[in-house]
Amino acid sequence: MIDYLHLLLESVGEDAGEVASYIPELANADPDRLAVAVATLDGEVYVAGDADTEFTIQSISKPFTYALAIADQGLDAVLERIDVEPSGDAFNEISLDPDTGRPRNPMINAGAIASHALVSGDDADARVERILDLYSRLAGRRLSIAEDVFESELSEADRNMALAYMLRTVKTLKGDPADVVRGYTRQCSVSVTVRDLARMASVLAAGGKTPDGDQVLDPAVNLQVLSVMATCGMYNSAGDWLTSVGIPAKSGVAGGLMGVLPGQVGIAVFSPRLDAHGNSTRGVRMFERMNHDLGLHLMAPV
Ligand code: GLU
Repeated sequence: MIDYLHLLLESVGEDAGEVASYIPELANADPDRLAVAVATLDGEVYVAGDADTEFTIQSISKPFTYALAIADQGLDAVLERIDVEPSGDAFNEISLDPDTGRPRNPMINAGAIASHALVSGDDADARVERILDLYSRLAGRRLSIAEDVFESELSEADRNMALAYMLRTVKTLKGDPADVVRGYTRQCSVSVTVRDLARMASVLAAGGKTPDGDQVLDPAVNLQVLSVMATCGMYNSAGDWLTSVGIPAKSGVAGGLMGVLPGQVGIAVFSPRLDAHGNSTRGVRMFERMNHDLGLHLMAPV
């Protein structure tokens, strides 16, 4: 497996696109970093490239916080507030469904901010602490927040602030929208490596259970999360992704990309330059290549 992963990195070819710059600190990322990790359900992690380079989780946090919101509130209560329809819109689109007032899904910012607000906790800090605990259990090590990225993103968070105020008008969000955006931005600033993300993905692949037997997520919650990742996880190229790679996945604007092959492995890649949809250019190509070489696609006959 290790040999294959090295070959994969060597053959990924030319890079294209730009690192995200709407969060000022992300513009400082080294654009040439490249890494891949594959984690099996029994806890083996195979890596190649810059596997110990830390980057912020960004939108890859969204499925995990959605899971916590469902665990806290129950699926029906969350569905009343956040729909599960692919939107085809950009991740930060200022939109709620005109008929129901719900964000279209939990993988765009409106739905992700709503999920964050639905996590139980006495105050904003308590919510963030519970979220960080969950991510750490999934990663198998204590994770922390990249304070420089957090400060940087918060200083430019007007759009997310607008979404949070809009969510308060439909009563999805109670309390201070600025507190919720602060917490959501901290959630996005959790620092991870591809090892961490592959391990987190492997827990989703195992129905919510860690290799040590810790049932972190209820299997039904886990299934809901994977289903939404499959249809909405890749910004407005989710349809392209499902046809060309065919597994539930989530990308983030720092260049991380995590995929889940249910019952088999969790996979993560990292390369900071992004395509027009905001997905890692070489990251998408590596997954396409792995699908070609290893046959990841869930709809392919075995
Ligand atoms: N923190 C970012 C935002 O809300 C996450 C975006 C992303 O990774 O798609 O704008």
